[in-house]
Order: sequence, then structure tokens, then C-alpha cells
Amino acid sequence: MAKKIVIVGAGVAGVNAATKLVDNGYDGSLITIIDMGKDPYNRKPEEVMTGFLGAGGWSDGKLTYHTAIGGQLSKYVGENKAMSLMDEVINNFKRFHPKPEEVQCSNPVEEPDFIKPYFGLRLFPVWHVGTDYLSEIAKNWYDYLVSKGVQFIWEHKVYAIDFNKNELSLANQDFAGEIQYDELIFAVGKSGIDFAQQIQDSYKLETEPKSVQIGVRFEAPQHHFQKLIDISYDFKLYRKFDTGVSLRSFCTNNNAAYVAVEETYGDVTYNGHAKKDPKYLNGMTNFGIIMEIKDIDNPFEWSRKVVNELQVAGTGLYYSPSRKPSTTSEGEKVSSIQIDNLSIVKHGMGEYWNYIEDFIEDMKKVFPTLGDDWGVYVPEVKYLSPEPLVYPKDLALVDFPNVHFVGDALSARGITVSGAQGILSVEKLINTECPWDNIQGDIINWR
Ligand SMILES: Cc1cc2nc3c(=O)[nH]c(=O)nc-3n(C[C@H](O)[C@H](O)[C@H](O)COP(=O)(O)OP(=O)(O)OC[C@H]3O[C@@H](n4cnc5c(N)ncnc54)[C@H](O)[C@@H]3O)c2cc1C
Repeated sequence: MAKKIVIVGAGVAGVNAATKLVDNGYDGSLITIIDMGKDPYNRKPEEVMTGFLGAGGWSDGKLTYHTAIGGQLSKYVGENKAMSLMDEVINNFKRFHPKPEEVQCSNPVEEPDFIKPYFGLRLFPVWHVGTDYLSEIAKNWYDYLVSKGVQFIWEHKVYAIDFNKNELSLANQDFAGEIQYDELIFAVGKSGIDFAQQIQDSYKLETEPKSVQIGVRFEAPQHHFQKLIDISYDFKLYRKFDTGVSLRSFCTNNNAAYVAVEETYGDVTYNGHAKKDPKYLNGMTNFGIIMEIKDIDNPFEWSRKVVNELQVAGTGLYYSPSRKPSTTSEGEKVSSIQIDNLSIVKHGMGEYWNYIEDFIEDMKKVFPTLGDDWGVYVPEVKYLSPEPLVYPKDLALVDFPNVHFVGDALSARGITVSGAQGILSVEKLINTECPWDNIQGDIINWR
């Protein structure tokens, strides 16, 4: 019998899951996607994390194409399958792209000598979709899913799920109700990380702890880094220490590069994105300098505490020896409090700040024009909540085999892997479909 599939989160993972289903003849009217954000026609630029395509919809549109980048995938399905799932995600982005011929792949092959001995460079291919096109991609993609009968419930937050009754509770300011499902795809991303944690706690799900990933968003005029950008657009400088700490530059944006505020748990943290339209050119480069710290007890709580200590007057911090904070692509100042010394940062990050300071000092040696012409937005954080144990073939919870965790809510950290996990989670459902029944009958108890 056909199964009623409910997807919580219309982000990259949820949308790729639904697409895989309807592309393979699954009756779209049996699929319901619930999101607390808006559809792509109504989503505003400042709604960075929620709505159709989730955080991926307002991201930098860089689709990494390597199993060592972007979180866990090959550990579930092996290298070959992981790459073919990533191909599907990239093809979906091209398919709904208004100018697919502009989606280009960069693939650096050799570490340049001038960064040695200070840094290593991670080499991997990246497909560049272009931030400016994401909104149009989202509209085309959404129209396709709607045309296939997929049901969307916008601006409703799912606040509870009863895995034993196969029922979830959702609400907005006007309505509240329950929906039942046969299969649940849990794809809430970073904006739903609190909710994911709450579910893990209440069902005492078996989990695998994760390391701390914290640092800053570094910003400087692009010309200082041009020599490296010519070799690798999204360069990943890295270094590793015997102390269990490693650092990497992360998510580099160039040409029309803007720092973006990312709000999690009510705290302000930073990320970045780049625009393609020449009218946004600002000649800036930004990237995260992220430390991975192993062996911290309760890494999740530790990161949250540090992030909280790095807030002043409800926002994050900006430090520069010579510059002022930049503006967003909408021309507003990037929300931050400028500090003239680093004492609060040193206090918040403790001894770990030294690693970041050394990283910056060594960049000054490798990029000699850089000098004091840079600034950092503090903090940038990758909250990795403990990863629930899942069956590798369909990412279903070990204790609840009809509940699939995918994307950033599981172990992904990027668009390609999140989308690939979404696709993987539904593959098994494709051949068992039998389109009769209607999801409408399952929306019960609206008040
Ligand atoms: C500014 C920025 C730039 C980025 N740039 C890149 C990049 O260039 N390349 C890259 O690979 N990655 C990038 N990322 C990361 C990437 O966007 C995410 O890894 C990816 O979107 C995760 O996909 P997901 O489907 O798991 O979650 P998301 O895409 O975040 O989607 C989750 C969805 O769930 C919804 N949701 C959450 N909780 C609930 C709830 N309780 N009820 C209802 N709905 C809920 C949210 O509204 C959201 O729409 C960027 C992220 C940001 C913030």
C-alpha cells in the first residue's frame, strides 16, 4: 500500500527527497512538506535559514563534490554510491537553474609552494551555482513539485513528534494541529537543531558525539589573496596539531563577498556568501577560520556557552586593527559590535584563541600585502549535535525504522551531502508505491 510521507523541513535535504520520489512516479499528493519558513515567492533575503531550500536557498551556492567535505556520506554507502548521490543533487540544481550552462566546476590539482611550510591546501572540486540564481532555482523547483501534487504547509513549526503514534504536532500563531505519517523524513537543518536535540533527548536515541567546530569569519580585500584564489576559488588552508586541534579556512567567498549573520539559539554567529551579479562586486574576500577541537566533554554545551559569552548587546563582535564592519548585500551594516581589543574574545575562547591568532599571523607571512588590512567577525560556529545512530541504507533511526534523519540534522555540513542524504532516505520507498489514498484525510484535530 502507498505510504504517506511527511517531510519536516523544505530545505535542501527535504526538497531533494521529495524530488527523488516524484521523479520516480511516486504520487505527489502522498507527500507533505512542512516548513516554518515561506515559499520561494514570499521568502525575504533576510530569512537566511528558513523557507524553500532552507539555508541552502540563501547560501553561497557552492556545491562541494568530494566525500571528504561536507559531512558524512560515504560512511553509510561507500564511495561510489556517495558520488552518484551527489551527482543527482548537482543535476537537480542544474535542472532548475535558469542558465545551467553557467554552473561551472573548479578543480584545483596542486598545492602551491608559496603557502608551504605554513599551511596545507585541501584540493577538491566545487560546482558554483551562484547565489543570485538560487531564488530563481527555488521557484522553478517549487513549481515542479507543486505540479506533481506535493502538498506544502508553510509558516508552521513542528514542535512535537510522537514516534509511537506516527503523529506530529504543528502550529503557527493562528492554528495548531496534528498530522499522521507512515514515513517521516526529519530534515530540520541548523535552524531546527534545538528541536532535533529535544527529540534525541526525549527518545533517548543512541548517538555518536561530535567535535567542537568554532572560530571566526575573516574578511579582507580580495587582492591580498588573489594569487591563491587563482589556483582555488574556495581555498581550504589547513593545519593540524598534536593537541587534537586542527584549523581550516572554510567557505571562501570572493568578488562580491558578503558576511552574513546566522542566528542559532537566539545568538548571532557569522557565515558568508557571494553574489554573481556584477552590481554587487565589492572586491572583498571572506572565509571562516574554523578550529576543530577534539576531546572536549559535552562539545555541544561547550560551544553554546562560548558563543553566548561572545555576544554583546544581542549581537556578535567585530575586531580589526584598521577597518570597520562591512555592509550586507542589502547595504546594511553587518550586525556586530566593534571592539578595539580582543580581551572578551580571549576570555570567551580561552587558550584556543591563540590558534586563530597564529593562523592570522602566518597568513600575513604568506600573503605579504595583508598587514593590518583585515577584520574578524566573532564567532562563527558549526554546531554539530550528536549524530543519532541510523541504518546506513535509508538513514532510519535504529529504534524507529520509519523515521529518517537527514541533512544537517544528521551528519551533513553542506548542500551536496544534505541533498544526497535526502535522496538516500527515500530510495527504498520508490518501488513500493501504489497511488491511491489521500494525505488530506490525515490532517486531524485542527483547532
Ligand atoms: C549563509 C550561509 C551560506 C552557506 N553556504 C553554503 C555553500 O555555499 N555551500 C554549502 O555546501 N553549504 C552552505 N551552507 C550550508 C548549507 O546551506 C546547509 O548545510 C544545508 O542547507 C543543509 O540542508 P538541510 O536540508 O539539512 O537544512 P536546511 O537547508 O537548513 O533546511 C532546514 C529547513 O527546516 C525548516 N525547519 C527547521 N525546524 C523546523 C520545525 N521545527 N518545523 C518546521 N520547519 C522547520 C527550516 O525552516 C528550513 O527551511 C551555507 C549556510 C549558510 C547559513
